[in-house]
Amino acid sequence: TNTPISVVGLGLMGTALARAFLKAGHPTTVWNRTAAKADALVAEGARLAPTIGDALGGVTIVCLTDYSAVRELLGDAGLDGATLVNLTSGDSAQARETAAWAEKHGARYLDGAIMAIPSSIGTDEAVILLSGPRPDFDLGALGTVSHLGEDPGLASLYDVAGLTMMWSVLNAWLQGTAMLKTAGVDAATYAPFARQIAAGVADWLPGYAEQIDKGSFPAEVSALETDARAMAHMVEESEALGVNAELPKLIKAMADRAIAAGHGGEQYPVLIREFERPGS
Ligand code: NDP
Repeated sequence: TNTPISVVGLGLMGTALARAFLKAGHPTTVWNRTAAKADALVAEGARLAPTIGDALGGVTIVCLTDYSAVRELLGDAGLDGATLVNLTSGDSAQARETAAWAEKHGARYLDGAIMAIPSSIGTDEAVILLSGPRPDFDLGALGTVSHLGEDPGLASLYDVAGLTMMWSVLNAWLQGTAMLKTAGVDAATYAPFARQIAAGVADWLPGYAEQIDKGSFPAEVSALETDARAMAHMVEESEALGVNAELPKLIKAMADRAIAAGHGGEQYPVLIREFERPGS
């Protein structure tokens, strides 16, 4: 676990990454465009790289605002022989392009994604995803690290997929909270109930995933047309209460399209077909 590590980019996240490496006993080198942001880490035992080139000796973690900043910074740095782990957030196309670019310049390149906030870095709760060549060094100091495969775009793809989950759950909860507030129920009263529903639905995923992977959707629990009737209540209730009905309408519109295509007697995950192609 004592691989020397460099951290390039000492914003909120990069600082947390560098601190976790220091705490775990990695010899840690840091570099930031605005050098003053390294002061606290240097006081804690990090070595300050005088130039970006000096930070590229061992395993270099890169955590900047976006991929264009990464290309801008590393473009002239001389990457031959470097090992880069780019934990900057982006999409899978950017990750694949940057991997090809870095490899062309002689670097070993792993892409990654951080599904965590800075304060959780260094704990098991911090999920760090990696993709690209399998690493022969240990980044476990950062949290729960998973290597997803050789395709460098995978970490970003999982990251973006996870964002969809996060915001969909939050939006669903906010919709329900807005509905209940009209009856004087406050958010804190509804939250534990909503949490239980979200956790219960999460338990359905493995079984539903099996249906998707088999491409067969027998209605074991309920048929889509039964679900669609409940969706109509959700839309009508929102409209009657005078709260926003956009999300309920979107949910119902997707089910209606699948029913119109002849899938009303099948189970909910048959809707994967609506998600696999662009909507209207
Ligand atoms: P900050 O805005 O705090 O830091 C941005 C960093 O990028 C700074 O070190 C900044 O340097 C550097 N930078 C930007 N442009 C350039 C450039 N052209 N050349 C050199 N350095 C540059 O952002 P965060 O640390 O919060 O986020 C960094 C990455 O981590 C992002 O991709 C973000 O999506 C991801 N992330 C962040 C999370 C969070 O909760 N903060 C959660 C999950 C992922 P300077 O100090 O000189 O401005």
